[in-house]
Amino acid sequence: MAKSTEVKIAVFGRAGVGKSALLVRFLTKRFIWEYDPTLESTYRHQTTIDDESVAMELLDTAGQEDPLQREGHVRWGEGFIIVYDITDKGSFEDVLTFKNLLDEVKKPKNVTFILVGNKADLGHSRQVSTEEGEKLATELACAFYECSACTGEGNITEAFYELCREIRRRKMIQ
Ligand code: GDP
Ligand code: MG
Repeated sequence: MAKSTEVKIAVFGRAGVGKSALLVRFLTKRFIWEYDPTLESTYRHQTTIDDESVAMELLDTAGQEDPLQREGHVRWGEGFIIVYDITDKGSFEDVLTFKNLLDEVKKPKNVTFILVGNKADLGHSRQVSTEEGEKLATELACAFYECSACTGEGNITEAFYELCREIRRRKMIQ
């Protein structure tokens, strides 16, 4: 069998948007209610996408790192997930701050990332419409997923896989 493609993915977003919960949902298909918000973790996950072996390294950022550490995380990553919480408008506004950081650190290259609106199960407290999420993703030229780490709705696995495919494509043309 051919060697695995290695992909390094870092997850960014304001504290409390559900970065850890999303990663745990992707890795275990389960939802864990409380997760140490200050914890920074990396996970390894071996999988097969479109008949090709992929070795994923996933970095769950804690959001408390100083600017230099955060820059280090961006340098380390080959692809990124920027997460906001659909019930928190401020976390949606933060998306641009993270995108700007990615551009700043990765320039002159284009950054590979996807946008995820989490907590879709909390529709009654929604502050960011699906259309607003889609519009921002169009402006930033990235894929968009609305999902819930809690219920698993919104195809979280597909979001991670699509990012892996994009990283793999970029690696092949480099
Ligand atoms: P992080 O700081 O971005 O890593 O956020 P966490 O994963 O620690 O989640 C913050 C809080 O939001 C926790 O209390 C989670 O249980 C909750 N949470 C995370 N994802 C969801 C979701 O999809 N739906 C709901 N209802 N709560 C969520
Ligand atoms: Mg966390």
